[in-house]
Amino acid sequence: MNATIVLLPGDGIGPEIVAQAKRVLEVIAGRFGHTFTMPQHAIGGNAIDSCGDPLPEETLNACRNATAVLLGAVGGPKWDDPKAKTRPEAGLLRIRKELGLFANLRPTKTWDELLDASPLKREIIAGTDILFVRELTGGIYFGESGRRPHPSGEEAWNVMIYSTGEIERVVRVAADAARKRRGKLTMVDKANVLEASRLWRQVAERVVREEYPDLEYNVVLVDSMAMHLISKPREFDVVVTENLFGDILTDEASMLPGSLGLLPSASIGSSGPGLFEPIHGSAPDIAGKNLANPLATILAAAMMLRYSMSMNTEADAIEDAVSRVLKAGHRTKDIAGNGPSISTTEMGDLVVEMLRQ
Ligand code: NAD
Repeated sequence: MNATIVLLPGDGIGPEIVAQAKRVLEVIAGRFGHTFTMPQHAIGGNAIDSCGDPLPEETLNACRNATAVLLGAVGGPKWDDPKAKTRPEAGLLRIRKELGLFANLRPTKTWDELLDASPLKREIIAGTDILFVRELTGGIYFGESGRRPHPSGEEAWNVMIYSTGEIERVVRVAADAARKRRGKLTMVDKANVLEASRLWRQVAERVVREEYPDLEYNVVLVDSMAMHLISKPREFDVVVTENLFGDILTDEASMLPGSLGLLPSASIGSSGPGLFEPIHGSAPDIAGKNLANPLATILAAAMMLRYSMSMNTEADAIEDAVSRVLKAGHRTKDIAGNGPSISTTEMGDLVVEMLRQ
């Protein structure tokens, strides 16, 4: 297969970790007979520096024409001035919107080799393997908002708004994923209080009943889900929810495996390229020091092959190589505890070596 993968290294540790993922993709292309063209473009703070725009037109056009996009991270103290005309994160929000990326997929899997890195007990988290599907372009983050005078000062509001179509399309993404996994789908809402949640419940139940009767389906209230995630995370397979709940629950769940450096994510739409990235930020405290863990980005590259190019064997090969590197005891500083650690490039070397074996 010929594919164009646009690389957006971004800021901070972004360039270091994307460089390692690129090496891994080159090995995959060689081993499986694919041609990956991987042009690199600016986004975030470095794009503000070079052309005053966190998402330059040239970057956006390249992404629109790509098979998929692999992003490092954006942001950093240099661009944190609240009075600045634009911020790096604006580039990220815009690219998601421009590419119509309405579903955010976040796998949260614990690695047996790293159970002790989690703040939770190993007997609770061992075997956890959840795929979160978060609605990304609707809900309270995009609804009407405002402020007005109030006898006590001001009052402010944000509207949580969803349409049938917005719910249907993301539930289908989640249900399709559940079919390829363990066949269980959980929908999280707050239908005992919120009207928007009652529409979610009604639409999701209909879609599953009519189109996915083979799935084991249940609904859980978001407050209960917050508790279940840290008391019985193994019970869940695919979890679908709206934007705000998904934002909070996926961050809670990211604590289960114990390291931000191991968690990838994907944002996908109905058609066109998906965007794949690690869930962590640009880690300015360790940028340029060859200390960052590149595995989340390498695993994001594996997700890209699986979801954007249907290359399951290739994706499995990357995930297996990462697993074997961890099993052999190699650790970057963030997951090494008090033990010895290796650099970003050494971790990349090891994954590449495993893939070649
Ligand atoms: P962060 O995820 O960048 O860092 C949090 C902590 O985790 C830091 O101590 C960092 O060193 C460590 N860490 C993160 N990734 C690591 C890795 N791969 N290997 C080893 N250690 C790692 O979060 P933050 O410090 O809150 O944010 C820093 C900047 O990143 C901010 O400007 C923020 O806006 C931005 N950010 C960007 C994204 C994105 O691009 N998607 C996401 C979150 C934060």
